[in-house]
Amino acid sequence: MTKLKITEIDIKNKKVLIRVDFNVPLKSDGSISDTTRIKESIPTIRYALDQGASIILLSHMGRPNGKKDPKYSLSVCARALSDLLGQNVKMAPDCIGMQTAAMAKELKPQEVLLLENLRYYPAEENPELDLSFAKQLADMGQVFVNDAFATAHRRHSSTVEITKYFSSSSVAGLLMEKEIDALSYLLIKPSRPFFAIIGGAKISTKIGVLHKLAQRADAIFIGGGMTYTLMLAKGYEIGSSIVDMEAIQTAEAFIALCKDRSIPLHLPKDLVITNSEQKETRTIDIEKGIPPGWEGVDIGPSTRQTWNSLLEKAKTVFWNGPLGVFEKPPFDEGTRAIATCLSSISGAKTIIGGGDSVAAINQMHLAKHFTHLSTGGGASLEYIEFGTLPGVEALSNKKT
Ligand code: ADP
Ligand code: MG
Repeated sequence: MTKLKITEIDIKNKKVLIRVDFNVPLKSDGSISDTTRIKESIPTIRYALDQGASIILLSHMGRPNGKKDPKYSLSVCARALSDLLGQNVKMAPDCIGMQTAAMAKELKPQEVLLLENLRYYPAEENPELDLSFAKQLADMGQVFVNDAFATAHRRHSSTVEITKYFSSSSVAGLLMEKEIDALSYLLIKPSRPFFAIIGGAKISTKIGVLHKLAQRADAIFIGGGMTYTLMLAKGYEIGSSIVDMEAIQTAEAFIALCKDRSIPLHLPKDLVITNSEQKETRTIDIEKGIPPGWEGVDIGPSTRQTWNSLLEKAKTVFWNGPLGVFEKPPFDEGTRAIATCLSSISGAKTIIGGGDSVAAINQMHLAKHFTHLSTGGGASLEYIEFGTLPGVEALSNKKT
């Protein structure tokens, strides 16, 4: 990596601002339903504590739309982090302002302060609305660490604008480093064969990454909702399956690109379909097309088998997006079958990006059998598409 890392600078006795991703999902009673994101930030926080730094944490949560809304207060995260670290985490009343700045100033080495939700201010997402917002954040620290990979595809005050105040001391945290190492492996030197599996709802959000993968991978497998846009582009009947009408031309261009480059493009041979009230479920051959009133909801059993035997030979796999409507069993069976297959390939690097695909693997308790589960949905796709992210680019370069 050409960017400076937290392990490469001196942070002892320094005030260290760490941009973390505490954008955790909440239950209806306001408690945290999944603390994965907080846990993922622990190695960097622990490292900085061990180095004797004072730690000031910055994060957003949810979409409070630039207004103070207690529903999105990060105080639940301060409590969860206190438990995980086994030490008190102070909660600031705001992310900027006199009181918060005073708390940051008084912070002693090995103490942790969490600032309130950055998105209480419109300038977080739109820095140009108030450039002094990033400056006020920056004024509280001597070093800036970005560990929020999942937000690094955004040009926000706390990801890009803030780095202008730390010309030689904006560094990557340990999670950021781990994410970049795993994803850049796919771009730089993947062991071959390298297979990419892309599913999920809409093709339009993933077309950039599909084009990139058509230049890097040895075969591409398409499942999930985007299957039907590609099927339509190929002239199959799709019934009332989910479709991205605006993406038909891009789908055609993608099919042509794979053909030009002789990259095998595997669409499901058979599909699980259901009728409008989901009363009846059938498996059909893709060649027959989907009858009117029926909707494709999963890859079929024969596809699962064929894909399994192809995927078993992989040395590198990148998977993003469920292959069916996995929230509604039994339409989770295709996603489950492929997850199980990938978890048992020996000697392959298996890298998963995307909120829903990672959730599916976690639900199945298979996480430990994968090389890397990315914490960034959109960020991991953009990293693969462009080979970098705005929040990564903005970090200080290593001295040569
Ligand atoms: P990820 O978060 O892993 O990137 P996406 O957000 O792109 O994945 O897509 C996940 C969604 O795609 C899920 O809600 C799932 O129900 C939906 N999906 C998958 N297959 C289909 C399908 N055949 N029809 C409709 N929706 C689908
Ligand atoms: Mg998703």
